[in-house]
Amino acid sequence: MNILAVAREFPTQESCIEHIERVKWQGKPRCPFCDSDRVARKVEQHYTHRWNCHNCLSTFRAMHGTIFARTKIPLQKWFAAIAILLNAKKSVSSYQLARDLDLTQPTAWYMSMRIRKAMQEDGAFLRGIVEADEAYLGGKPRKRNDRDNDTPAKRGTSSKKMAVLGAVERGGKVKATPTPRVTTKLINYFLRRNVDPRSVLITDYYQGYNEVRDWIRHARINHSKAYVDGDIHTNTIEGFWALVKRAIAGQHHHYTIEHAEMYIDEATYKYNTRKSDTPFADFMERACGVA
Ligand SMILES: [Zn+2]
Repeated sequence: MNILAVAREFPTQESCIEHIERVKWQGKPRCPFCDSDRVARKVEQHYTHRWNCHNCLSTFRAMHGTIFARTKIPLQKWFAAIAILLNAKKSVSSYQLARDLDLTQPTAWYMSMRIRKAMQEDGAFLRGIVEADEAYLGGKPRKRNDRDNDTPAKRGTSSKKMAVLGAVERGGKVKATPTPRVTTKLINYFLRRNVDPRSVLITDYYQGYNEVRDWIRHARINHSKAYVDGDIHTNTIEGFWALVKRAIAGQHHHYTIEHAEMYIDEATYKYNTRKSDTPFADFMERACGVA
């Protein structure tokens, strides 16, 4: 995506508002309070983006209920921030975004967190061949066999490591979420919420996956012997972890456990939309609450 093209297509605040109106209402404006279509643009001497509802007598703007609601930041900066974030393979720090768009760092941080919130995944199940794995993000690399003794993500300790559970459909989408602990119970809970039980699940021999065979077909790769055994491997999910680790190492040195979910959401969203030819238009539908 070309960031200049986005800036050229929406050169003014008005053109940005009109675009939000188009994306959100698709030619059929409705009142966000009573859902009536008896609405009309407010008449004033100059251009206005306020609307009147003739049913419940509210006034509203298209930004209501979108990530652009209740902000005084020019919409062109919002659109540019979206384009920059979508374009960045390794994410963007709020400091960088502040410099790029002439914003204060807290404002850039607030915007990027709102944008990431709109990137949160839907609830659709992963199907077919699904690889599952966990990862520990941040801090020093850890030996693989050491994870039983791990106590990641403990606040107030020196550990800055965060445990994340993940699953990916081969050729499809990924789901990932930070977890307070890596336990059999939490692994099962995460997988049951995200994976169709008619799938085939592939994991390594970590004991946390011992109980998944109760509800799903399960194949395992013994990483002490080989990393690939025909179709039995976890290379896809490990590729995703590499992506997330690069983003956090490169940009978010000061990330906290509380916000880690947002960075995972961003990496997940980018992975899941990697084949789209229209990333800006796709994201705008989410930003306006359509998709
Ligand atoms: Zn109304």
